[in-house]
Amino acid sequence: MTGVTTSAQALDAADPLARFRERFVPSPGVVAYLDGNSLGRPPAVTADRVERFLREEWAGRLIRGWTDDGPDGPWMEWPERVGDRVAAAALGAAPGQTVVADSTTVMLYKLARAAVDGRPGRREIVVDSDNFPTDRYVLEGIAAERGCTLRWVETDPTAGITPEQVAEVVGPQTALVLMSHVAYRSGWLADAPAINRIAHDAGALVLWDLCHSAGAVELELDAWNVDLAVGCTYKYLNGGPGSPAFGYVRRDLQEELRQPIQGWMGRRDPFEMGPGYTPAAGVRGIVSGTPPIFAMVPLLAALEMLEEAGIGAVRAKSQALTAYALEIVDSWPGSLGVQVVSPRAPERRGGHVTLRRAGFRKLLDPLWARGVIPDYREPDGIRIGLAPLSTSFAEVHAGLTVLREVVEGLGQ
Ligand SMILES: *Cc1c(COP(=O)(O)O)cnc(C)c1O
Repeated sequence: MTGVTTSAQALDAADPLARFRERFVPSPGVVAYLDGNSLGRPPAVTADRVERFLREEWAGRLIRGWTDDGPDGPWMEWPERVGDRVAAAALGAAPGQTVVADSTTVMLYKLARAAVDGRPGRREIVVDSDNFPTDRYVLEGIAAERGCTLRWVETDPTAGITPEQVAEVVGPQTALVLMSHVAYRSGWLADAPAINRIAHDAGALVLWDLCHSAGAVELELDAWNVDLAVGCTYKYLNGGPGSPAFGYVRRDLQEELRQPIQGWMGRRDPFEMGPGYTPAAGVRGIVSGTPPIFAMVPLLAALEMLEEAGIGAVRAKSQALTAYALEIVDSWPGSLGVQVVSPRAPERRGGHVTLRRAGFRKLLDPLWARGVIPDYREPDGIRIGLAPLSTSFAEVHAGLTVLREVVEGLGQ
């Protein structure tokens, strides 16, 4: 037993969130799940909640579920109701500004288009070249549709976007700035309030992608004066594969901005079925079609855990987990040639760390075969995503011990 194992045990013993680990469905054969930032693990209560919904609400209420009051309200209101739950538990946002609907990509398209159309006469969109692929592709499509130019900011791939870089490119032509709050590759946590101030001074809107933030880091959307935001619920929010996205529109922008997918569920009085589209009042106007009710059931179950734990405690554990992972890698002789391509400063680091070494691609199969599941990102990056509610320090230690053995097997 090494000193590091001892400290893992001590860290677990002192972990105020340790009790949550048992509240997930076990994954047989998995020694260390290091990819909670891609797909969170299933909470144990989910099976029961899904079964109960199927029996009592779907079968029991049938079509009446859309309008009759159930335990979580009429289904028609779930986009806003579940949105408010996400907002309170994870986003630092007051009610009435968040909905759950669509996929992240579709929600991103709707809000980015609304922002560009909301700044007529401005023809530039600012985005960083290392942003998540779907974000870049969506913006390329919008730029082509609306005759805009993309202003690409080149970021340091081991870090991420800085306020200084944003200040250099925003100006009177900027309609929209789109940034990931936590960079999917490096884990860099952007200074959202500072970037908002710079963009707002130039008259631009900012859309934050919170996929790698929600459920791992503290967010204060209202206090940071965020305009627009989107994010996943299947990563740190444990909503399950393909669970719907959330979208946030600050209250005072809701009347002003119009999203482009004018569907009946975002219309004022959808069941009137009348001619012409008038958006529903408030944040409901960003909903388009029938809300994914069934897919919100696991999300509601998972939110209970986050509500109980509190995002402040979750963030504290997240920082401790990533710091511990870095400490282990740093303890290897010469780090075994492994480079840390994530921020060292805890306040600039999200919930994952990325390691790089030539030949890492070849390691994925042997790691998976030994029950260690990180994920791989080009070029040569292994991402260690540490979901605070479901990951122990011992699991981090076990996973990195196997990684070390596999790296040693690679040779130099
Ligand atoms: C995971 C992720 C997405 C995913 O978008 P989907 O439409 O849910 O596939 C988008 N942006 C970022 C930054 C992500 O990490």
